[in-house]
Amino acid sequence: MVIDEVRTVSEPGIDPAAIDGFAATLRGTLIFPGDAEYEAARQVHNGMIDRRPALIARCEDVGDVIAGVNFARDNGLLLAVRGGGHNGPGLGTCDDGLVLDLSPMDGVRVDPAARTARVEGGCTLGEMDHATHAFGLATPLGVNSTTGLGGLTLGGGMGHLSRHYGLAIDNLLEVDMVLADGSFVTASEQQHPDLFWAIRGGGGNFGIVTSFLFRLHPVSTVYAGPMLWHMDLVEDILHWYGEFLPNAPDELNGTLMFISVPPADPFPEPLWNQTMCAIAWCYSGSPDQAEDIFLPIRTRFGTPALDWVGEMPYPVLQSMFDAVFPHGIQMYWKADFVNELTEESIKLRVQQALRKPVGSSLLGFHPIDGAAARVPDGATPWAYRDAKWVEVIVGATLDPTENDAIIAWARETWDVLHPFSAGGGYVNFMMEEGADRIQATYRGNYDRLARIKARYDPNNLFRVNQNITPRT
Ligand SMILES: Cc1cc2nc3c(=O)[nH]c(=O)nc-3n(C[C@H](O)[C@H](O)[C@H](O)COP(=O)(O)OP(=O)(O)OC[C@H]3O[C@@H](n4cnc5c(N)ncnc54)[C@H](O)[C@@H]3O)c2cc1C
Repeated sequence: MVIDEVRTVSEPGIDPAAIDGFAATLRGTLIFPGDAEYEAARQVHNGMIDRRPALIARCEDVGDVIAGVNFARDNGLLLAVRGGGHNGPGLGTCDDGLVLDLSPMDGVRVDPAARTARVEGGCTLGEMDHATHAFGLATPLGVNSTTGLGGLTLGGGMGHLSRHYGLAIDNLLEVDMVLADGSFVTASEQQHPDLFWAIRGGGGNFGIVTSFLFRLHPVSTVYAGPMLWHMDLVEDILHWYGEFLPNAPDELNGTLMFISVPPADPFPEPLWNQTMCAIAWCYSGSPDQAEDIFLPIRTRFGTPALDWVGEMPYPVLQSMFDAVFPHGIQMYWKADFVNELTEESIKLRVQQALRKPVGSSLLGFHPIDGAAARVPDGATPWAYRDAKWVEVIVGATLDPTENDAIIAWARETWDVLHPFSAGGGYVNFMMEEGADRIQATYRGNYDRLARIKARYDPNNLFRVNQNITPRT
């Protein structure tokens, strides 16, 4: 059966006894509209998303996930899978269908001798970092502890350790998955290698990952934090950054952003609400060399307006920017891959930064060179190993009356800057932008993804995602 029409549980044709049967098989809770928990349970991170699922199943274990997949498929229900609920366009939820909320599945088992961690599919980055930090170990993930590890990893996953140790997918050894037919498989280089290839960047298209096995690295404290400069220096800083970082040691990561300084302690009051150029640094090399690495950075443009770079536990860095994007913030974002920061594009970037609405909106560059760039093309579906940055344009506000303004700024900025990009967008930083944009993101890997999708999910049960159309 091809699920073209999706039904709601209130529509005739779905046997109420089937719902009762489903509820009875679950170890977790099944939440209905009207239940006291429903309003909170249906919310995702982005406050702009206002969807009303027919049912929300809080999954406690793999058995619950299998039951949920079978129930949705057999009853022709739209199925959404929620990891951390951080996805911009709200692809962790849906209207009228079934949401499988994996958040109760948040266990982490670290094997310090093998330097690996087995992480359940509903974990957040913070939950994993907490568990591995106890052993002085970490794997590259993102930059906010509240983000879901599931969605982040399946889309690629880049953050403070990407130049040193690659993307999250580059450190993935194995996954356990529930497929569209309800079967359970383990995928790795040895078992279902086609599936293992596809999930390393292809998102949630191929099934539900109930656990990930990651390689870990010795990362305990890092020399890290933000440095801020005034906008009058910014063209020089961008020229320097574009040359300096690609030639810096892999251990150094610097995410450059145009931000508004939050109007609150501990930020110095004269800086409040000013648009400034920030670089969030992370040096994960030898602590003995950190001061030497940063000396030229600290003096290159005079003393930075703010310098909070110093030694800290890695999880402190990972949660340092959480307050900028609290749960419920309104978000609209777009992204491109970028190869170089040219003279003309720098001027336009500064122009758009100065038009940025005050608040949490930002324009930023996440480096993806270093170790992430040394993974051969085609080894994973992530198709921009040759690009140096993911440029992200985030419209964000706590005030829904400002939504039109942040959306307009994000769209205008993308229109202005896209001609200077490498093409394609990063699936984790996209809204719902259409099939062409998804294909452009995967470049020549799209056809192979579409064939693997046809093998594992021919009827497109897993369609609430940046969707890859099954193709035989
Ligand atoms: C504040 C903030 C900071 C961010 N920072 C970064 C960053 O530094 N680096 C980066 O790469 N990205 C970052 N992101 C983007 C983030 O990676 C994506 O939004 C991602 O989709 C979030 O995953 P999630 O599990 O929280 O999302 P959800 O909304 O729960 O799910 C997103 C998609 O993934 C699928 N999915 C989730 N878990 C599973 C699973 N276990 N099995 C199968 N499918 C699953 C869902 O079905 C859905 O299609 C950030 C997002 C936010 C809001």
